[in-house]
Amino acid sequence: MSWCGLAVAAAAAALAAPPEGRSVVLVTTDGLRWQEVFAGADERLINKENGVGEPDEVRKAFWRETPEARREALLPFLWTVVAREGQLYGNRARGSSVRVTNGLNFSYPGYNELLTGAADPRIDSNDKRPNPNVTVLEWLDGREAYRGRVAAFCSWDVFPFIINRERSHVTVNAGFEPVADAGRSDLAMLNRLLGDTTPVETGVRHDSFTFAAALEHVRARQPRVLYLGLGETDEWAHAKRYDRYLEAAHRVDRFLGELWRELQARDGYRGRTSLVVTVDHGRGEGPEWKDHGKKVAASQDIWIAVVGPETPALGEQSGVEPVTQAQVAATVAALLGEDYVAAVPGAAPPIARAVEGKP
Ligand SMILES: [Zn+2]
Repeated sequence: MSWCGLAVAAAAAALAAPPEGRSVVLVTTDGLRWQEVFAGADERLINKENGVGEPDEVRKAFWRETPEARREALLPFLWTVVAREGQLYGNRARGSSVRVTNGLNFSYPGYNELLTGAADPRIDSNDKRPNPNVTVLEWLDGREAYRGRVAAFCSWDVFPFIINRERSHVTVNAGFEPVADAGRSDLAMLNRLLGDTTPVETGVRHDSFTFAAALEHVRARQPRVLYLGLGETDEWAHAKRYDRYLEAAHRVDRFLGELWRELQARDGYRGRTSLVVTVDHGRGEGPEWKDHGKKVAASQDIWIAVVGPETPALGEQSGVEPVTQAQVAATVAALLGEDYVAAVPGAAPPIARAVEGKP
């Protein structure tokens, strides 16, 4: 390491001590269906009509004979580490349902519901309007133990409004905003590439940048609460590209594994950190897989995965009480040992089984 590198490393170390107590990472991947999470790639969609130019290659990568083998090929971290050590909700084929309750089944209403603990009929568009509601991120950041140690890295540029950055003062980096580079050459390079990259869709940064920025933030600033909001799964679905939708989902799973290993390798995080993974909405069935919204009834069905020291290792859930999207906020807080429901009247309770502690 050069002198300069040493100085930067020392500065970063001085910025943040390892977290004391519990930490939590919440990850969303926009509109990834429960159908792929629990059954893997859908054979009926691996064809030209659904934008797959090379069906044989996609089958080779993701098609297997059984749903169990298919889902593990697509999402190996979820189906090895989380399935063994944590819990997965939302396989309707096995009597586990997770539902969006806002009735609209699109992004801002969904993120509002999962981050605040309640659906709000006032949130009825994806417009860049500051959220009148307080998210669990803002609530935590307002508490002494978490102040300045809550951060959100998001692909979609509406998140500064959903989290109400101006009011909440939560660290939010979203869309094609540059990341704070503090003179670091690697982050300056990341910003250069960001500035030189053409968006696929206006307002949505590629997940690769979002993840790299979040991982560096964990290394340098050691947040206690990290929110990673990824967006490509939804973009490729709307673009009618089932191959890229699968690829994006597979990459999200790799990001989860990388982040989890990074956290388990670090003092302060090892054995004390929980991970919650979910989505803002589902999508339609069969040929309607590309769409979601009020008119696509099936898009209210979603999924949630949880792993960490407070979560009994019960794996894939079957025949359990229905869960709602609104329960995510209180679950995130409860994994830190915090009672969100007592502080926020009207918020849905945590998923009891996911936060009851290891036996
Ligand atoms: Zn969408």
